[in-house]
Amino acid sequence: MIRILANDGIHPDGKLLLEEANYQVNADKIPQEELAQRIGEFDVLIVRSATKVTRAVIDAGKHLKIIARGGVGLDNIDVEYAQSKGIEVFNTPKASSRAVAELAVGHLFGLARMLQRGNRELAAGGDFKKLKKAFETGLQLRGKTIGIIGFGRIGQEVAKMALGLGMDVLAHDPFVQEAEIAIQLYRYEDLKLNVIVRTETLEKLFRESDFITLHLPGVDKPIVGAAEIEKMKTGVLLINTARGGVIDEEALLAALDSGKVGGAGLDVFENEPTPREALLKHPNVSCSPHIGASTMEAQSYIGMELADRIIAYFGDDK
Ligand code: NAD
Repeated sequence: MIRILANDGIHPDGKLLLEEANYQVNADKIPQEELAQRIGEFDVLIVRSATKVTRAVIDAGKHLKIIARGGVGLDNIDVEYAQSKGIEVFNTPKASSRAVAELAVGHLFGLARMLQRGNRELAAGGDFKKLKKAFETGLQLRGKTIGIIGFGRIGQEVAKMALGLGMDVLAHDPFVQEAEIAIQLYRYEDLKLNVIVRTETLEKLFRESDFITLHLPGVDKPIVGAAEIEKMKTGVLLINTARGGVIDEEALLAALDSGKVGGAGLDVFENEPTPREALLKHPNVSCSPHIGASTMEAQSYIGMELADRIIAYFGDDK
């Protein structure tokens, strides 16, 4: 029997698929420091971001055939070393695209009406009438221009929603010239609208966007720093659900204080899990604790995709 260790858990839908196919799934976490001693019992290791799959773990995994990461990114796995040992390594990047895109647009809706301030200040006993006056300068999304940096899976999902909301879309991606965005209404399968979005220069995107959202992979050097913010419209709303470090947080704080940036929606931070307090507490920051993929639906899709791929790998040979 194939033994699977889902060390950071697996959604019940994925676990069920595996168990129905007669795989044995252990979803009880083995602490990192004990993992190398215990991994020899398993044929498959499933992780999310918490478990580190180091050389020591891989060396000790004498029976390991697959190391799978539920979600996007493989930064917690020594992929090259695992592959050099003949172990298959994969992740499930598509399963959570919609979830992340909805969170990005959620932050945007919230910032546009200052919901983060309303939530904090009313609950803290703020004067209702004064707050009503203070928040009377909200913005509507329809008719505004959204700049999307990184036009892959998540960026294109955001474009789909933005077009549906009546926004203009400006996208930038050095590796994508254009993308066909298919807008489809729920239950009305015959009603389809396909829009071709051609990517533009960053300069144009910075200059013309009312809102900017980032959906590129992690980078060594921030793609948005003080010089880039300077090129943006005053009052721009910035959303980062990509990776901490794609926006320079020092520059962002300064721009939030000066009002150059009107608000920031942040799901990811340079220093997770202890982001800088000045950002979290800034009145014009809407924050969330890296929950882009954390919806019931995305976790279920991730679990089922993991199960399908593991079952396809072993086939009847188990
Ligand atoms: P993707 O690979 O489908 O798309 C990323 C796009 O970025 C690609 O088209 C690529 O060409 C482009 N790109 C690369 N370098 C660029 C640059 N310098 N400037 C502009 N574009 C650039 O990836 P995805 O699935 O859309 O994920 C996007 C980001 O979202 C990743 O950073 C991922 O880690 C992050 N993410 C976050 C969460 C969360 O919980 N917040 C969850 C999933 C993914």
